[in-house]
Amino acid sequence: MSFFQYQNGELCAEKVPLTQIASAIGTPCYVYSRAALEQQWHTLNDAFGDYPHTICYAVKANSNIAVLNILAKLGSGFDIVSEGELRRVLAAGGDPDKVVFSGVAKSASELEFAISQGVKSINIESVAELQRVQEVAASLNTTASIAFRVNPDVDPQTHPYISTGMDKAKFGVPMEAAFAAYQHAANLPNIEIHGIACHIGSQITKTSPFSDSLKIVLGMVKRLAAEGINIKQLDLGGGLGIDYQGEQPPTANEYVQTMLDGVKDEGIDLPIAIEPGRYIAGNSGVMLTKVEYLKHNDSKHFAIVDAGMNDLLRPSLYQAFHTIVPVSKSSDQSKPTLFDVVGPVCESADVLGYDRSLAVQANDLLAVLSAGAYSFSMANNYNSRLRPAEVMVDGDTAHVIRQRESHEDLFKDESLLPE
Ligand SMILES: *Cc1c(COP(=O)(O)O)cnc(C)c1O
Repeated sequence: MSFFQYQNGELCAEKVPLTQIASAIGTPCYVYSRAALEQQWHTLNDAFGDYPHTICYAVKANSNIAVLNILAKLGSGFDIVSEGELRRVLAAGGDPDKVVFSGVAKSASELEFAISQGVKSINIESVAELQRVQEVAASLNTTASIAFRVNPDVDPQTHPYISTGMDKAKFGVPMEAAFAAYQHAANLPNIEIHGIACHIGSQITKTSPFSDSLKIVLGMVKRLAAEGINIKQLDLGGGLGIDYQGEQPPTANEYVQTMLDGVKDEGIDLPIAIEPGRYIAGNSGVMLTKVEYLKHNDSKHFAIVDAGMNDLLRPSLYQAFHTIVPVSKSSDQSKPTLFDVVGPVCESADVLGYDRSLAVQANDLLAVLSAGAYSFSMANNYNSRLRPAEVMVDGDTAHVIRQRESHEDLFKDESLLPE
């Protein structure tokens, strides 16, 4: 069930009308639903039944500490890609023993912090990184628990910018190189081999890329076992897609069953970790924006809104589609016009949606749907615009979980040259 529904013609988050939030804190702003986040997490978690597993929510999808705290309270683990994300997880009460650390460019100081906090697994992406992890762990006089993130060279059949598991991608270690790297790692004094990881891409809408890559990963597990290298956990990454525009991705049950069938077929009963981001957060949030002006050219109608590509980058970066709907259906909806919904930023790519059928006037509120993942977390200050506020609705209460940036914030870290 969606937690964003119209009640008496007014779009609500759970029980709170979005117009109320917009008038209290202004626009643009993000609004999340706690119940939606929790439902998505539970649906995935429950799909595993009693099979041993850890859900490691991918922090980069939506890294607000209130979101992380809600998931930590459910018992979630986390997939992080920077020291900053680990610090957010810790501030939100997350358990480092359920954290996996991904990313191709971990610095020595990031590794030092993560290893000293005791993260469950450093997911290593190159032989050079293995060497660095060994050195850092040795300098801390400890062992680092690691996995290699392998690159199974499987096409996830998604947008090229969110494909990560093909041989031309910068991510992961190719299979043959990974086999050698595990053998090398097994002989390093400050390395403890924990698992094997893979993440092939995002917004995946079929089960076959998952089952194909799992087969390749399990083949490696067996080859390693024959060499006396025992993998203790399978980290199968994230990537499960969501419905933005009528896509029909696998359900959580179909997705998890694909993995459980895959391990059963190979007679391997290792614990599984997954790293879902978009599935948990994507449809748990919307962005509210106000129409500033209508503008009509010879060939186009524009609804110029107060949110731009700095607030929500996905349409400009990935040609991503977000459904855009009126917050209030009270105005006359009978004569819609095709509008390009465009923002204030001085770039022609600053378009939230092309050719949208809307009946809108200046000052109307619009909701950009499916904006819970890779939305605020990608927001930036381009054009010296203030990053928007974030709100979490919990039942009939709306909590501001991040204030709108202020103009004082904007250049407080900048300084003039001396006179
Ligand atoms: C981004 C990312 C994820 C999350 O992907 P979703 O498509 O949001 O589920 C998981 N693991 C890694 C390593 C990532 O980079």
